[in-house]
Amino acid sequence: MSVDGPTRTFRRQGRVVVVGASLAGLRAAETLREEGFTGALTMIGDEPHGPYDRPPLSKQVLLGKTPADGTALPRRRAIDAEWRLGVAATGLDLTEKRVRLADGQEVGFDRLLIATGTRARPWPRDAEADLDGVFVLRTSDDAARLDQRLAARPRRVLVIGAGFTGSEVASACRERGLEVTVAERGPAPLVGALGGVIGAIAAELQREHGVDLRCCITVTALEGDPAGRLRRAHLSDGTALDVDVAVIALGAMRNTEWLAGSGLGAGPRGVACDAGCRAFDVHGIVTDDIFVAGDVARSPHPLFGYQFLSLEHWGNAVAQAETAAHNMISAGPDRRPHLWVPAFWSAQFGVNIKSVGVPPMGEEIAVTQGSLAEHRFAAAYGFQGRVIAAVSFDHARWIDFYRERIESAAPFPPDFTGVDRPPGGVRPVPADFPDPALPTHGPTVTLSGYSPSDRRVTFTPARA
Ligand SMILES: Cc1cc2nc3c(=O)[nH]c(=O)nc-3n(C[C@H](O)[C@H](O)[C@H](O)COP(=O)(O)OP(=O)(O)OC[C@H]3O[C@@H](n4cnc5c(N)ncnc54)[C@H](O)[C@@H]3O)c2cc1C
Repeated sequence: MSVDGPTRTFRRQGRVVVVGASLAGLRAAETLREEGFTGALTMIGDEPHGPYDRPPLSKQVLLGKTPADGTALPRRRAIDAEWRLGVAATGLDLTEKRVRLADGQEVGFDRLLIATGTRARPWPRDAEADLDGVFVLRTSDDAARLDQRLAARPRRVLVIGAGFTGSEVASACRERGLEVTVAERGPAPLVGALGGVIGAIAAELQREHGVDLRCCITVTALEGDPAGRLRRAHLSDGTALDVDVAVIALGAMRNTEWLAGSGLGAGPRGVACDAGCRAFDVHGIVTDDIFVAGDVARSPHPLFGYQFLSLEHWGNAVAQAETAAHNMISAGPDRRPHLWVPAFWSAQFGVNIKSVGVPPMGEEIAVTQGSLAEHRFAAAYGFQGRVIAAVSFDHARWIDFYRERIESAAPFPPDFTGVDRPPGGVRPVPADFPDPALPTHGPTVTLSGYSPSDRRVTFTPARA
């Protein structure tokens, strides 16, 4: 690798600021040091905690197996950084190259990494959201509070939204022996992420495990008692449920508000960047010194028609952070693209679910191994005659195989003869995704339009 003069100087004495001190921020910082950056490194995070892992919050903390403060991310190496924790970045001045902080201070940088991730979408009515007994799950503090309440054995938990987080919360409640109702606007759990065919299997799983699952239902109001404790939920079918805990699992919102007015191409869908993780400005021009990684980023991917992908995937946050960090300290020809094939896992109701690719792009789905009836299978999604994604229930060993099929645009339906074929043969059926225009908790991987420089797209900043 050739390192030119300015790059060598920057590596030795440049100033890097990372905003968002969690998974993507930490892995980027480690990569910077690993690849020889010896300049000043500042980590800014609005949470009071050092970087911790979120997947165990729903899978272990809510089961009482791990304390909420026990999911710190393992450190790959020392990063010798100045940590500014418990203080949010509130603004960005691109001309002066300064980040404004909530405590009134400012931090200057030569290169900036934006890794501010997402937050839980709150319940839309503040007075109801403030009732004692209403929870969201995104942070370790959220998990600590919810775990404590579940340990007090509420009579019934209501989970609002049956995406991955809602379904995992419901699973944890059942494992703790708690009565749980799940209310889902769509026709089945996980339907936005995996489509109706798989959603029907997810619904079976929930009901077999004793969940009172109510689909095509919305919660119209949460009602409290005079002391401000949640006591009842009203549903769109006119019924009411007595509940003392409600978990709002309506998906995530990208943390981009602090970038309003900065001139970056940032909005509700995230911060747009090129495949090298460099942020676009509002005109669709790529910036030189501002990089993006993790859940807050949206970047184009050639495998998926160069559409911009917004991902909420652990593995993507790590891979994109590593690429962003590498590119931050590399000269043009040595930079590399972030072309990670989306991959996600979930554990719920005793089943290990994995997906690869972009399932919501799938027009059809075909079970290729195992059987839906046994809840142990692999299935491929097809788009315009090629494999675009795959999902497995307790059949994870097929996921790598399908990753390779997606990368090579292999034909759909899959043309290989494999073991463990489903009894009736491989028969594609419509994947049955709901209309993406309908409001829902949303899948964890979404196509979010074309390049911001494409005139068909109107950019919507967080504040006009
Ligand atoms: C309960 C749960 C279960 C999950 N399970 C899975 C799973 O099974 N598989 C999977 O692939 N993924 C899973 N995920 C998703 C995975 O955790 C995320 O993809 C990952 O955390 C993304 O990392 P990130 O660093 O980009 O963002 P985040 O983890 O969201 O971190 C962003 C950080 O930036 C901070 N921040 C935000 N705004 C500011 C600001 N203005 N100033 C300073 N700091 C700011 C945030 O508070 C946060 O600490 C799960 C997530 C949750 C919540």
